[in-house]
Amino acid sequence: MYSQFFVIDGHCDTISKLDDINAMECPNNNHVSLSGLYEGRVGIQFFAVWMDPSSTDKYLHRGLQLIDKYQRMLDKYATYFHPILRLADAKDALEAGRIGALLAVEGGDVLEERLSNLEVLYSAGVRLLTLTWNRSNQIAGAAMDDYNRYGLTPFGTKVVKTMNDLGMIVDVSHASEEAFWDVMEVSKQPVIASHSNVKAVCPHPRNLDDEQIKAIALKGGVIGINFYPPFLSKTEDVGIVHIIKHIEHIAGLAGINCIAFGSDFDGIETLPQGIEGPQSFPDIIEELLRLNYSEEDVQKICHNNFLRVMEKILK
Ligand SMILES: [Zn+2]
Repeated sequence: MYSQFFVIDGHCDTISKLDDINAMECPNNNHVSLSGLYEGRVGIQFFAVWMDPSSTDKYLHRGLQLIDKYQRMLDKYATYFHPILRLADAKDALEAGRIGALLAVEGGDVLEERLSNLEVLYSAGVRLLTLTWNRSNQIAGAAMDDYNRYGLTPFGTKVVKTMNDLGMIVDVSHASEEAFWDVMEVSKQPVIASHSNVKAVCPHPRNLDDEQIKAIALKGGVIGINFYPPFLSKTEDVGIVHIIKHIEHIAGLAGINCIAFGSDFDGIETLPQGIEGPQSFPDIIEELLRLNYSEEDVQKICHNNFLRVMEKILK
């Protein structure tokens, strides 16, 4: 019924959360499951690898271990997933009715301050890097780090430029405001905030202010709406209506072309009422249509805006 409104979800932390890859079939404590992705009409899922900063193991080592887990999951469910390594893979996945899987890394600490490691990751299939997580790192300052406030470092500048050259998507979710503006200046390609919301609707340091939203739109990028209740609203009962409020604000401020979804499933410990996992996307879509968003606009939010960015950046 909703196939014309298939979804590209720009962020989930399922790989880092899965106890073992069988949990894709029998969800244990994960939001994202195979059946949920199909029920929710998810055409492309971005899978982020996230490394817990409290571990003492080296970042790159752990990153590669998680990438290996992702590869094993794709191998085991090869009839369901289609990895996206180049632009043509996205189209192939959608045409074959399989779920396109795009590999991302959340946290540039993984590079261990070596540019050559970016190519290691690219070779391993990574097509998106979220420059920071909650702590400032060698690339950039983080939005949640009050003690180390800075922008893009000289190394970070090289990282962004190399990502542009390689055909990797630059993600500024979690980045400090200073880093955000530096990236906007340095990047020759559209920049995304894969899982970030609107500060004017819900004041939170992780959310974007109006100037940032306009800048992302102007550069042709997208903002993936994050479903984490504390990023959606300060009220107690957070539901689909609050997701819509963020969409409405961005639409009024910067237009429909920069709005997308970045659920953050499996990266967040609570969900809004009425949202259980990707299987709940059709309920959001239904609400948008009920509110008289045109079919064309809903398709842009669901997938076309992200497809445009992928067409621009992926090789
Ligand atoms: Zn995150």
